[in-house]
Amino acid sequence: MTEMCDHDVIVIGGGPAGSTVARYAAEGGANVLVIDGRDPIGTPLQCGELVPSNDEMRRLCPDVPDMDDLFRTPEHAISRQSTKMHLVPPSGKPLKFDFDGYVLNRVAHDEFLVELAKESGASYLVDSRVERVEGNKVLLRNGDAYSAKVIVDAGGHNGPIRKEYWNEKSTKIPVKFVLMDGDFGEAVELHFGSMAPGGYAWMFPKDQGANIGLGIQKSFSKGRSLNQFTEDFISKYEGNISFTGAGSLPMSGTVKTFVKGNYMLVGDSAGMVLPSNGAGITIAMIGGRIAGQVICEHLSSGTALEEYEKRWKKQMGKVMRNSKRSFKMGSMIFRLPDWILNLMFNPLTKNIIWRAVTCRRMLWVI
Ligand SMILES: Cc1cc2nc3c(=O)[nH]c(=O)nc-3n(C[C@H](O)[C@H](O)[C@H](O)COP(=O)(O)OP(=O)(O)OC[C@H]3O[C@@H](n4cnc5c(N)ncnc54)[C@H](O)[C@@H]3O)c2cc1C
Repeated sequence: MTEMCDHDVIVIGGGPAGSTVARYAAEGGANVLVIDGRDPIGTPLQCGELVPSNDEMRRLCPDVPDMDDLFRTPEHAISRQSTKMHLVPPSGKPLKFDFDGYVLNRVAHDEFLVELAKESGASYLVDSRVERVEGNKVLLRNGDAYSAKVIVDAGGHNGPIRKEYWNEKSTKIPVKFVLMDGDFGEAVELHFGSMAPGGYAWMFPKDQGANIGLGIQKSFSKGRSLNQFTEDFISKYEGNISFTGAGSLPMSGTVKTFVKGNYMLVGDSAGMVLPSNGAGITIAMIGGRIAGQVICEHLSSGTALEEYEKRWKKQMGKVMRNSKRSFKMGSMIFRLPDWILNLMFNPLTKNIIWRAVTCRRMLWVI
């Protein structure tokens, strides 16, 4: 299985997860090929584009080391910095919090991650869709084939290895969003209630515009479509729509195991999205760094690839558990009528709601 391979590592997908695996694996001396179906990688945009600052990440994920090496977001990939987050119930009266984050130019951000990986020595093959993976062979739709000792699926929740070799379903939230021109203030907003049943709606202000969208759980939507919910929510804001996009977010937390033989899952393909707030970019990069580092140790000194799961649990286990718990609680609470939600968003519950959104235990018992 490990003999006569073209590469040490093939990474399927060059998004935040895949490019980060590639960067750290190549940095450690591995011969890495990233294969992505898109050209350029990162387009078309499928994102709300919000990430916490490095300081905020240190607070959210205190067990993750050396954030500044991992997240090197360049100025040109930041559309706007925000220092406030508003959590908004159906009444429209927000609970206001300090929150240090960036609304990105996500396409420029993903391009930057590709550049970092290339600088470390990784090679990229774009506009090349992977059809299947068999043994140590990666088979492309155009008939070409490549081989590697380790194959990483960073192709999102429909990645080819996840689809064929992991028989695990996860809850997916369909999401729709627009880019709108205008001035939308400084605070990022998350809205909860019947405007986005089982999910949430967002307005993230950008430089001269905003990214506005929402995600729902279909089983909560009483027959109304995602389009109808999105149109209703977007109509609250005024401005010219310059782009419309859609996608879906895995919200069940991580899959049970990230490694099978010489196959590894990372990022969305492994379910690395925090269900309580939809954060996936930085979380995929945390998983990507661990995977890349463990692959190098595996190649150079035989460390078991399963070490990746152990390190993930050490760095992210608590945060992911809390986030899943909050999402489950939220799924029950956000079924309640809007008037009850309005009452529940009050100064007494403010801290509990914030702890839930930021993946901490809400109270010492839950
Ligand atoms: C609408 C929307 C809004 C979101 N908003 C936010 C947000 O505001 N903040 C946040 O942190 N997260 C957000 N997320 C989540 C975030 O985008 C993902 O969690 C993150 O992109 C995961 O990174 P990834 O590298 O695992 O996957 P992706 O970024 O999806 O990258 C996967 C790559 O794999 C490639 N690929 C897939 N299949 C194949 C194949 N068979 N062959 C070759 N290449 C393949 C794709 O072309 C793609 O480039 C949002 C997601 C959606 C859908």
